[in-house]
Amino acid sequence: MRALGAHPLHPVGSMQLRVARLCHDCEEVHADQHCPVCASETFTFITRWVPAPERRSKPRPPQPPPEADVYRRLTQPETNDHGTAWFLKRAAVGLTAVGMAGWLWRRSSTRSDDRIDNTPEKS
Ligand SMILES: [Zn+2]
Repeated sequence: MRALGAHPLHPVGSMQLRVARLCHDCEEVHADQHCPVCASETFTFITRWVPAPERRSKPRPPQPPPEADVYRRLTQPETNDHGTAWFLKRAAVGLTAVGMAGWLWRRSSTRSDDRIDNTPEKS
């Protein structure tokens, strides 16, 4: 009998589920084209009854495509993950508000100066 799983990555005697086959004649579990016990070529992969999981032990978390991220930012601007664009936008709005306030203050002070100048002096 040939040693099962004599693969450099797998110790002797072990077998990967995805290559394991069940011999229909003697019910031997093997990974060869021929049964190592009865030389039968009739077999069924064990994964037919036991589904083999993915090779990765930890599946990669699903990553949305970049188009989905752009769509999410467009549809949900009030999210908590504020980026640089959000900060720059807020800064621009703040600077504009400060500039408008300063312009209004200067305008009102100029008007009051004009009013004072136009008022006839009492003597
Ligand atoms: Zn067999």
